[in-house]
Amino acid sequence: MILRHDIDNSLPQALRLAEIEANEGVKSTWFALLRTDFYNPASASAQKMLRRIRELGHEIGLHFDEMAYSREGGIEPCANSSTEERVVHEANILADVCGCPVTTVSMHRPSKATLEADLEIPGMVNSYGKTFFHDFKYLSDSRRRWREPVEDIIRGGEYARLHILTHAFWRRRVYPFRQ
Ligand SMILES: [Zn+2]
Repeated sequence: MILRHDIDNSLPQALRLAEIEANEGVKSTWFALLRTDFYNPASASAQKMLRRIRELGHEIGLHFDEMAYSREGGIEPCANSSTEERVVHEANILADVCGCPVTTVSMHRPSKATLEADLEIPGMVNSYGKTFFHDFKYLSDSRRRWREPVEDIIRGGEYARLHILTHAFWRRRVYPFRQ
């Protein structure tokens, strides 16, 4: 099973869940944004938390927001570049900030085109590549809603490979699957 977390807004919440998982002997991949108003991965406090997540045995990946390059009122990128080049560039920066290799990427609110592109990014695993959706049973809590009964599916053992995405900030209460 691939257990994946996109850190959309809270590093402290991510660290809390990373600690809970480590206590349970679970290792997962934590995808951090580089371009976000919610946190700065290069700040001292963020670096501390990212390092701690790694020390717990987890992996840090890049959460890539393609919209950051076309946001209204945003600064135009100084060079024309492809999505693949932008991902590699951001991964290098994140690796520098984290002091560890960053070899996996997940997309933040990907467009349909990006979802369908099956991007091949040199030296990186694209968790939005077709393999991870076609060869794995994909389950996600995006928009705070499981679309299928995730616990039943895990217990049922029907699928040999699972790809599960959760967001650590959906935390107020247990949010069961609802039909
Ligand atoms: Zn996201």
